[in-house]
Amino acid sequence: MLISKRVSHINPSPTLNITDRAKKMKAEGIDVIDFGTGEPDFDTPINIKKAAKTAIDKGFTKYTASSGIKELKDAICQKFKSDNQLEYQPDEIIVSCGAKHSIFNIIFALCDEKSEIILPSPYWVSYPEMIQIVGAKEIVLKTTQRHNFKITPHQLEYAITPKTKLFILNSPSNPTGMVYTKSEMEQISRIIIQSGIYCISDEIYEKIVYDTKHTSIACLGKEIKERTLVVNGLSKAYAMTGWRIGWTAGPKQIIQAMSNLQDHSTSNPVSISQKAAVEALTGDQGDLSKMVMEFKKRRDYIISRINSINGLSAVMPQGAFYCWVNISDILGQKFNGRAIENSLQMADLLLSYAHIAVVPGCVFGDDNYLRFSYATSMENIIEGLNRLEKFIRGIG
Ligand code: PMP
Repeated sequence: MLISKRVSHINPSPTLNITDRAKKMKAEGIDVIDFGTGEPDFDTPINIKKAAKTAIDKGFTKYTASSGIKELKDAICQKFKSDNQLEYQPDEIIVSCGAKHSIFNIIFALCDEKSEIILPSPYWVSYPEMIQIVGAKEIVLKTTQRHNFKITPHQLEYAITPKTKLFILNSPSNPTGMVYTKSEMEQISRIIIQSGIYCISDEIYEKIVYDTKHTSIACLGKEIKERTLVVNGLSKAYAMTGWRIGWTAGPKQIIQAMSNLQDHSTSNPVSISQKAAVEALTGDQGDLSKMVMEFKKRRDYIISRINSINGLSAVMPQGAFYCWVNISDILGQKFNGRAIENSLQMADLLLSYAHIAVVPGCVFGDDNYLRFSYATSMENIIEGLNRLEKFIRGIG
């Protein structure tokens, strides 16, 4: 076979698929409302763009230290200190090409074939694929709406075996928007410490929270900090998805191993983006709070509209910019003579007939849901929900 066993099993990113199809329809002149995207619809703040332009003008366009420049690592350490009350040294930090790259490096550096990785579902689509690439085994812990899509400590305890290497925690969560409380984190951290496994804490949506506070599990004590790889980045908080800056903080030995891997795969993240990242972390934060306020308005609107539509329901998300919509009452019914048996068929019908793009829940590990992103204008949200309402009325 031409393609390796490892790579031939990787599925193309399903969220990108939907966005691509929606884009194609738009290019054909069809007015599609896109609830599929996973990136803020805001521009990168002007001070950050300026810092990048200055970096180019000053010729900061060459290779840098593979694991990131000292100036940026210092800014990241300072961010951990002030936002999360966490003390890290620069040699406990590695900057990579986006949080996705950071997570991949951790899994690649820590897991062998047959290592077990515990993954609560619904999960971000790339985790299972990364686990598969390294030949490790995913152990999925299903969560339910009744428990606000959070795992219970018992679930975690029972899933751990001698082969367990990692547990992946994503709070605030993509796709559910749920945020673990400090006391829930404490219970989870006790199990991690007792069992001696490691935890990836994916905190990429840390700054996008509403009516609640984000807690990093690593800040709960020395022992859990030593067992946690904290992942974060600039994509969501600073509307910088294209700049590709993410980072990991954790035990020196693991960071060094990831750094060795990065030395011989990607080398440094883009030099210009690193300078921009320093400005993002240390400069004016005004655009961030404006963005979060706007997201909150949209969240409140979208949730109240969804819950007013017969057959649909959604729990109020506390973070990120997604709405996780329960369609279990719709499944089994028909639209235009076509059966709606699963989330993929429902997403397909919504794109074809209502011209709204959403992501089917099956790709996040739960077929009873659809993910709506509200990283689109209020005007689009209102029109999109009008179309959704009309579509649902046509079911039966
Ligand atoms: N983790 C989660 C939960 C995400 O939703 C995303 C982006 N969709 C990432 C990590 C990766 O972010 P990036 O690579 O753009 O930093």
